[in-house]
Amino acid sequence: MDSETHHHQLHGFFFPLMAYGHMIPAVDLARMFAARGVKATIVTTPLNASILSNSINRDRSSGLDIDIQTLRFPAVEAGLPEGSEHVNAITSIEMIAKFFKAVNMLQQPLEQLLEEHHPDFIVADMFLPWATEAAGKFGIPRFVFHGTNYFCQCVEYSLKCYKPYEGITSDKETFVVPGLPDKIEMTRSQLSNHFKVKSEFNEWLDQIRDSELRSYGVLVNSFYELEPAYAEHYTNVMGRRAWHIGPVSLQNRDTIDKAQRGKKASIDEHHVLNWLDSKEPNSVIYVCFGSASRISGAQLLEIAMGLEDSGFSFVWVIRTIKKEEEERFLPEGFEERMEGKGLIIREWAPQVLILDHPAVGGFITHCGWNSILEGISAGVPMITWPMFAEQFYNENLVTQVLKIGIPVGVEEWNLWIEAKEVSVRKDKIGKVVTQLMGDGEAAENTRKKAKELSEMAKRAVEEGGSSYADFTALIEELKIYRK
Ligand code: UDP
Repeated sequence: MDSETHHHQLHGFFFPLMAYGHMIPAVDLARMFAARGVKATIVTTPLNASILSNSINRDRSSGLDIDIQTLRFPAVEAGLPEGSEHVNAITSIEMIAKFFKAVNMLQQPLEQLLEEHHPDFIVADMFLPWATEAAGKFGIPRFVFHGTNYFCQCVEYSLKCYKPYEGITSDKETFVVPGLPDKIEMTRSQLSNHFKVKSEFNEWLDQIRDSELRSYGVLVNSFYELEPAYAEHYTNVMGRRAWHIGPVSLQNRDTIDKAQRGKKASIDEHHVLNWLDSKEPNSVIYVCFGSASRISGAQLLEIAMGLEDSGFSFVWVIRTIKKEEEERFLPEGFEERMEGKGLIIREWAPQVLILDHPAVGGFITHCGWNSILEGISAGVPMITWPMFAEQFYNENLVTQVLKIGIPVGVEEWNLWIEAKEVSVRKDKIGKVVTQLMGDGEAAENTRKKAKELSEMAKRAVEEGGSSYADFTALIEELKIYRK
């Protein structure tokens, strides 16, 4: 790099919340910037840095200007056990408050890093509202990264403004979310707790919204063609500045990138690929509920029986808090019977690698946005099984707007650490799997639609595509801003 370029090289900080669903896309985003010649620094805590360091080292050796800076996480000061640096360390409601108390203590250490490194901008997670003020002290723009899509932002805004859930008599009665481009129906039981109970969390959400309004803009992991009406609604009706720059997961092109994204997979990637290679196209259903969800043993049993009854091949990612729990609840002789038919991955799967394989024809997902967008990018239709956070909104996007999936029929939102015993029975699971994976006309149409969206997603991030162009515009604007 000549001194001229070096002198003008932009430098960005990327500070995700310490949860896989936030860190993984933020790292992809940082790598995207680095691939365009921007120096990218990921800010996180030591334990999380050690999870990410392998893939960042690989990026560095391939020539990307990317590094990690760490901040000590004040777990103990906030009343948590030492080393509780990741959302997955939370096991109770009390711990949630303490975890975020510790997160909120990171403003001053972040300011110190800003002082030392003088970046030109910062992309900080929505859950770090104070990052706007920190950036302001150094005269640099702060961008918000929610990790979700336009649709969710629009639904949440409408619910907050119009409160349509207040005028109904029962938790199961459907209401229309007002003022949106499509008729979106929900029930009160599918809404997050903050709409139903007033708590400190509501005040914090207000701070998050306020910091978003005061920030320079929002980076959205989505692409225009996926949800054009909502991209417009977000800008024109809600008045936000946003850049759509996704799907960021498409940044991972080769097997090793896909296999080691976020965290090293707990199964050899070649074993998975060989297993999938032995299957017919679109014949395998992939089952994974993201990085943080907790599934009860009783629910695992229902899933096992539902998958077996469906007769389809499957790859199923099982993560339980206690290993014994899982073993106890798998049906007698299940793994022996499923030999060759079902591949169980314990702990962490190379998800993007699996979804991208032509043998995979369906995805049972908890509707985390990364998972859905990865499914869309791979052209895989979905069975939606939302649990917490904004996952019920995402279900609506998939089933009511994009029409590339079937709901499994979950009725109730639950805090992720308070999983329900059983929310879906085996019969329903078997039925929807057969419906999605079968060769009926409806299933064919869903598959076709999913493939079309996948093509659009890939085009969006290629040179000349909508996300590529928006990303270029953003970088150009940042260069001008800095002058
Ligand atoms: N993921 C993975 N392997 C797993 C579980 C999750 O690679 O076994 C990745 C997945 O590809 C996605 C992220 O972890 O990028 C999960 O994010 P998402 O928004 O889907 O859900 P969350 O974990 O935040 O609930």
